[in-house]
Amino acid sequence: MSAPHDQPSVPPRALSPQTVAVAAGRPARVQGGPVNPPVVLSSTYVSQGVQQPGELLYTRMDTETWHPFEEALAALEGARQPGVVFSSGMAAIAAVLSFVPAGGTVVVPRHAYQVTLGFVDDLTARTGVTVRRVDVAETDQVVAALDGADVVLLESPTNPMLEVADLPVLLAAARERGVLSVVDNTFATPLGQQPLAHGADLVVHSVTKYLAGHSDVVLGAVVTDDADLAARVRAYRTLHGAIAGPWEVWLALRGMRTLALRVERSQATAAELARRLAEHPDVVEVRHPSLPQDPGHERATRLMDGYGSVLGLRPRGGAAGADAVVAALELWVPATSLGGVESCLERRRRFATESRTVPEDLLRMSVGIEDVEDLWADLDQALRSL
Ligand SMILES: *Cc1c(COP(=O)(O)O)cnc(C)c1O
Repeated sequence: MSAPHDQPSVPPRALSPQTVAVAAGRPARVQGGPVNPPVVLSSTYVSQGVQQPGELLYTRMDTETWHPFEEALAALEGARQPGVVFSSGMAAIAAVLSFVPAGGTVVVPRHAYQVTLGFVDDLTARTGVTVRRVDVAETDQVVAALDGADVVLLESPTNPMLEVADLPVLLAAARERGVLSVVDNTFATPLGQQPLAHGADLVVHSVTKYLAGHSDVVLGAVVTDDADLAARVRAYRTLHGAIAGPWEVWLALRGMRTLALRVERSQATAAELARRLAEHPDVVEVRHPSLPQDPGHERATRLMDGYGSVLGLRPRGGAAGADAVVAALELWVPATSLGGVESCLERRRRFATESRTVPEDLLRMSVGIEDVEDLWADLDQALRSL
């Protein structure tokens, strides 16, 4: 019998997150046993009579193939409960937004992952939920919006504008008012910030991005310290059925082993590219919290470890100029999504659904792990072609 989450695989003494990413979620050390968890392909488990606590029964409910990843992600986020893996980041977001009661109120960033905003609009249309959109950088505005709310979902840095929220202040304010708080930690990663330590009730991830890191799986996860919330999120997963496939979870754990190396490299490259782009004659604006002139710089320096690997770039020539830059690039991949080893970019307003307050010419650039000089040479030639 394989009891769920019964083998703490990380030594109890405090390890640095870089080490946790490598060491957590390993099988117990057994002579002749594997170093990596096996992939178990079975929809059902041998079972008769009364189910014992922790006994696996049916894979939609639970499977040992999820556990190593769920333990490793929880260890990275510093959570007291194992994480809950989902088939996508949106499935994880749907699970946490199920805590908004019919007719209730949810506070969300005005700039956020587009489909998250689409999801809450759909909640409004179907169940009369009130949505309050806030600028997460405006602390007083967010705190005022928390009064009478049921759930607040925050991003920091935000997608795609990279606004930085004062998470400790906002999360404390949510707690005081009895507002359930969720932080989408996809952009910062658990190496950049651990929202549970700042007082968040729940953390969600699009594992698709930095955690898996190779643009080859779509996966999501929820992490919390609270046993009751964790049980409710698990029950939601079983009821709604948005479960992760075994291969995807295995790939995500494998990708997570190199999280620290990838993030350290891509963050350093992003900061260097931001610095050079800010001086480029064909650039109107660069957004990255590493820049001293960036509105989020002071907060990110205080609250985050590193500044993230996503840049905002507004080239000369408006939307047409931005499109021309994308078309002229040879190494950077024109594609949506982020967090992979390959650098990619897109003009966000090419989507009619993107917030109107995002500049039309804003390119969201996800910096990968290629050599900084190769990335720079490609950007420079594309900008000069304008
Ligand atoms: C991609 C993304 C999501 C959605 O995740 P999927 O895995 O694509 O479903 C949610 N939040 C953020 C910040 C994202 O970047």
